[in-house]
Amino acid sequence: MKGLSTRFHLALGLSSLVISVMLVALYMGLIPDRDPAVRMGRLALAETLAISATELIDEEDNDRLTRVVRFVARRNADLMSVGVRRTTGELLMQVGDHDRNWRPPPGNISTDSLLMVPIHSGPRLWGHMELRFVPLQPAAWWGVLTLGPVRLIIAVALASFVVFFLYLRRMLRHLDPSKVIPGRVRNAFDTLADGLLVLDPKGQIVLANKAFVDMVGRNPDELTGKPATLLPWTNSAQALFHSAETPWAACLADGQPRHNFMMYLVDARSYRRTFMVNCSPVPGAAGKPAGVLVSFDDVTELEEKEIELRLARDQAEAANRAKSDFLANMSHEIRTPMNAILGFTELLRRGYQHSAADVQKYLNTIHSSGKHLVELINDILDLSKVEAGRLDVERIPCAVHEVVGEVVRVMNVRAQEKNVGLNVEFPERLPATVLTDAGRLRQVITNLVGNALKFTSQGGVTVKIYLRNEGVPRMHLDIIDTGIGIPHDKLDAIFEPFVQAESSTTRKFGGTGLGLAIARRFARALGGDVVASSVIGKGSTFHVSFETGDLAGVQWLSPQQLRETQDKVADAEVASWAFPADTLVLVVDDGAENRELVRLVLENAGLKVMEAENGAVALERVIAHKPALVLMDLQMPVMDGFTATRTLRERGLEVPILALTANAMKGFEREIEGTGFSGYLTKPVDIDGMLAELARRLGGQQVGTVAADGARSMVGGLVASAQSAATPMQALLDSTEPIVSRLAGHPRLAKVARSFALQLPDKLKAMGAALEAGNMEELAQLAHWLKGAGGTVGFDAFFEPTREFELHAKAGRAPELQAGLKLLLAMADRIVVPEVPGAAPPAAPLPPLAPAPA
Ligand code: ADP
Repeated sequence: MKGLSTRFHLALGLSSLVISVMLVALYMGLIPDRDPAVRMGRLALAETLAISATELIDEEDNDRLTRVVRFVARRNADLMSVGVRRTTGELLMQVGDHDRNWRPPPGNISTDSLLMVPIHSGPRLWGHMELRFVPLQPAAWWGVLTLGPVRLIIAVALASFVVFFLYLRRMLRHLDPSKVIPGRVRNAFDTLADGLLVLDPKGQIVLANKAFVDMVGRNPDELTGKPATLLPWTNSAQALFHSAETPWAACLADGQPRHNFMMYLVDARSYRRTFMVNCSPVPGAAGKPAGVLVSFDDVTELEEKEIELRLARDQAEAANRAKSDFLANMSHEIRTPMNAILGFTELLRRGYQHSAADVQKYLNTIHSSGKHLVELINDILDLSKVEAGRLDVERIPCAVHEVVGEVVRVMNVRAQEKNVGLNVEFPERLPATVLTDAGRLRQVITNLVGNALKFTSQGGVTVKIYLRNEGVPRMHLDIIDTGIGIPHDKLDAIFEPFVQAESSTTRKFGGTGLGLAIARRFARALGGDVVASSVIGKGSTFHVSFETGDLAGVQWLSPQQLRETQDKVADAEVASWAFPADTLVLVVDDGAENRELVRLVLENAGLKVMEAENGAVALERVIAHKPALVLMDLQMPVMDGFTATRTLRERGLEVPILALTANAMKGFEREIEGTGFSGYLTKPVDIDGMLAELARRLGGQQVGTVAADGARSMVGGLVASAQSAATPMQALLDSTEPIVSRLAGHPRLAKVARSFALQLPDKLKAMGAALEAGNMEELAQLAHWLKGAGGTVGFDAFFEPTREFELHAKAGRAPELQAGLKLLLAMADRIVVPEVPGAAPPAAPLPPLAPAPA
């Protein structure tokens, strides 16, 4: 029975019920029995025949009797044989094989199948009519089966079993197997937050709780009775699970629970969910699980969070790495020029140089290292401004071709050094000016052309400029080089701050990886972009675009005209200025060298200069001397520039005050304006810019131009042209050759040299007096001034003797000082005072150069 299905049991039970009911009905006589009726029929037939026989026997018509009996026998299938027997035992007639088969019933009393009906002839018994019928009761036991009611019951039992069996198959299919689980339990399952499945031993779903149904977004009817693998479960690699690989299959197989199995399922809304699956077997008979309880913990969010966290961690690590790399780069970048600056200044301080040429070499190195540092700092400031979203760009008319021309001209020096070409191409006409930010644009182009030159050692760099209308008109610049190229997968990354294409780049080429990041941000701020394309080993093209603004009414230049402007730019000249007489400018700076530099430039332009080393001194001097303009450094000891300016304004003084600042940090412009400054100049001072600004404020006039070469930057000019060699002391003393300043022919700086030459006799006189008085300190200071100023204005011959003089003064060696002074006086005699065309007569008007502190 055990092996039979539930359906079989149910069908059998139901059939038994039907049979029981039928037996009761039978017992109660509700089911009609055919035997009594048959019995009555047989009796009636026998009696009718007997009556007919009595009459026919009286008439002695045996033939007719035989015919009647035969007829009756033919009409009754149950009647097997008929015989008419006299009381003497003689068989008068028979139908069927009566004589042989007739066995008189016991005591000659009729039974159901053997009937004997008496035939009378008059009052006396003549004989009997014998009728042999098919027996109503079968002889053997199984004959019971042929009984009507039994046959009926058997038929009904078999038929109902078959019908129930088939019917149940249909019905059970529609039945919810989960209903086998009590309602309380189902309700309890439904309140669980975890998804829950109850599976039968075949892994088919008996119950799916509400949380599961909600999670997978399926209808419960779709799930119950189906295998749990009907749902598309996948593993982390998105491969489908086979039924045998599922944790519940394993649990059903060995009856052991399974824990924390990760499975993935794309739900009805196409959302990939992650489940932590736990399986517990439901104990069944013979130690085999009767099912399995599977819980599903939806950890999708957790996993997403984990992925997010992992990403964030990776990003943080990458940022940290970038920062560390950056710091390492920066420290390298800063250290290298710093080492040079400190090393060479130390050499100079200790007087280890052997000749004036050495000094110039050291100064050159110090200067270029300083410049490099400033560039680096500017880059970082630019980037920090961009990053802080504080990048303001202006849109004013700008001649792009000229900006490009300027950059190319400056860069040409480097190109020539490396022996690579640097060309500008104008394939088509261009507007003479567009609306953009020339300063930013210059930075972008400088950076890209600089990179192109840096990474190119053969061939050349070409800058191509053209205009395209892309909804709005945009100017395009292609900077094409034939350099080392950039790996394809780095083309985007190099625009990230501090990223370089190769880790070896810094070592081989220097740089901080900031340039492109800044260039791209600037270009984007100007309504365009910078993108790169490259072929490794063949070269790279950096493509810059920026909006031009409205071009209505602008003048257009043909390629020919554009090329001509390039040549003109190449010969550019710088303005030379004349200021109203006796215009006094107060230079406030705690750095003596800075004051001296500015003083030289301003005096050279015909301005009077007064110095102050801090804000407090400046206050006094402004009040006492009423300068026409103040150049004010910001950070100074005693009193800073902000305080000084604020105080001056509070006292109602309206003198223009320009801040001199190296600080371009956030918000400084507003701070400067708020303090009462009239404007600001950035350090290191751009001489042309400063003079132009002063001219604007002080009514200066442009009186002419000088060739740009070497005159653009005073510092550059001085340093670049210092070439003279040292002269042995004795040779200097013996020589009668005139001493000419290197700057004598210089249109602007000759004036400064002249000023020095004119002051020299007085200075030497002062030195003589100090020597006499034994004032070694003053002597050393004067020698120091002579050394610095002489070199600065191109009288390099003075350098070596004054250096020695200064050392002797510090050591207090009187005899050497006597000899030294003699030499200096002899040299002063040979000085050729530089002539300045159209300059004011020398002598008095120029205030004396302040001695530089030792
Ligand atoms: P830097 O030049 O200071 O390293 P940039 O941001 O200007 O920083 O450039 C980032 C990197 O992009 C460079 O280090 C270099 O690897 C690569 N790169 C830039 N321009 C070129 C170029 N023209 N050819 C080859 N590589 C380039």
